[in-house]
Amino acid sequence: SALLIGLTGGIGSGKTTVANLFADRGIELIDADLIAREVVAPGSDGLAAIVDHFGSGVLDEEGQLDRAALRQRVFHDDQELAWLNALIHPLVRTTMVERGRQARSAYALLVIPLLIENGLQSLVERVVVVDLPETEQIRRTMARDDNSRSLVENIMANQASRQQRLDGADDRIDNSGDLADLTQQVDTLHQQYLTLARNHDS
Ligand code: ATP
Repeated sequence: SALLIGLTGGIGSGKTTVANLFADRGIELIDADLIAREVVAPGSDGLAAIVDHFGSGVLDEEGQLDRAALRQRVFHDDQELAWLNALIHPLVRTTMVERGRQARSAYALLVIPLLIENGLQSLVERVVVVDLPETEQIRRTMARDDNSRSLVENIMANQASRQQRLDGADDRIDNSGDLADLTQQVDTLHQQYLTLARNHDS
């Protein structure tokens, strides 16, 4: 089964950009945000459990999860929020690991924005962090989404700090340079992970 590498980084740090460079090298990506949607898609056990618990008021006309309605139900209720997280988090974790292990590439990259926040290091063999000084992180996120500085700063205040992420990671990709610089770092890590993958299989 494929070796699992976890990729993380703060908002606007360049996770998607970096993940796509690994994909260009034939590495399968498993995206936590996509899996989180999949485990509550129509027909899933996850959605059935949510409807069982909260009632059909959390469904829209098409039978999809109405995220706004669900948010209303858990927003001011820590117990309901805890119930929801206790349902969703294990589903996402096991699905990601299963999917990663089934990957056909030499290793699989699990893209997990909140890997450090949720303490998920043990799911993967190594953690690589996309690192950027906070000032540049804010600048790029504002430029990309046309977000206000205060919104971006607020999101960052609720995420791990740059230092916490570096402390929790095995490898670091410095994304303060240009795309050529980034590509070179990805190439180097990719070779290291291929070597690890060979030892992992034997
Ligand atoms: P989010 O957590 O918000 O989804 P992310 O970590 O996936 O973000 P990206 O979307 O890859 O980050 O990058 C954020 C923005 O910065 C994008 O507009 C991207 O094009 C740009 N960007 C990424 N790397 C660089 C770089 N080395 N130089 C300049 N701009 C960059």
